[in-house]
Amino acid sequence: MALYSEHAVVLRTWKLGEADRIVSMYGAQSGKIRAVAKGVRKTRSKFGARLEPISYIDVQCWKGRDLDIVTQVESIELFPAIKSDLERLRKGLGIVEVIEELVGDSSGDFEIFRLLVRVLRRLEQGDSHYLLSGFLWRLLQVEGLAPQLESCVECGEDGEGLTQFSTSGSGLVCRAHGNSVPISRDAVKVIAWMCEGELNRALSLGDSVVRVEVEALAVAQIESQLNHKVKALHLPSY
Ligand SMILES: [Zn+2]
Repeated sequence: MALYSEHAVVLRTWKLGEADRIVSMYGAQSGKIRAVAKGVRKTRSKFGARLEPISYIDVQCWKGRDLDIVTQVESIELFPAIKSDLERLRKGLGIVEVIEELVGDSSGDFEIFRLLVRVLRRLEQGDSHYLLSGFLWRLLQVEGLAPQLESCVECGEDGEGLTQFSTSGSGLVCRAHGNSVPISRDAVKVIAWMCEGELNRALSLGDSVVRVEVEALAVAQIESQLNHKVKALHLPSY
């Protein structure tokens, strides 16, 4: 077995036996890591608290055949402001849940790791109206699942007639093919910025009806890809 160490964000944990946990993480080099943390549910565990979802850690593991084994954990950033504010916690848990569910196990993608750490740092500094939707649209783009925003996904028509968004078709649809969610021109523009990672342009807009539209469509598009709900994002809003 080989020992490795890596910077990673904790996505999710599961109980295992009496005292252990399985920890799912996204590492800077390896991408998804699944490892057993032994004894962490005992009160005196030295690294139990460092392995909570959302935490950014420096972790050392033995490489295993199915599951790796955590041997050491140091905190890099624990994001206390996110964890102590219910609304930010809901978003933070939604962010790690989407990474856990949407991103494949195959190999590490540093762009996803960087996106994940950046969005958590911004959320730690303060909540912003476009942060969650900006993350979700950018993640879809990085994963090769960007929506088609220039022409109808059914017939290819472009122009002013593109007034609806189809989550199943992953893009705009024209009036003739519309049986989907109405979308404003401003929302199309903001979603395009977000897919390109130009979050600052959206953040400068302030709160508006577009914010609600863009976030609802982002969640609907992610859930259409997953074929199920993102649980944390449907917890009560505060
Ligand atoms: Zn059409």
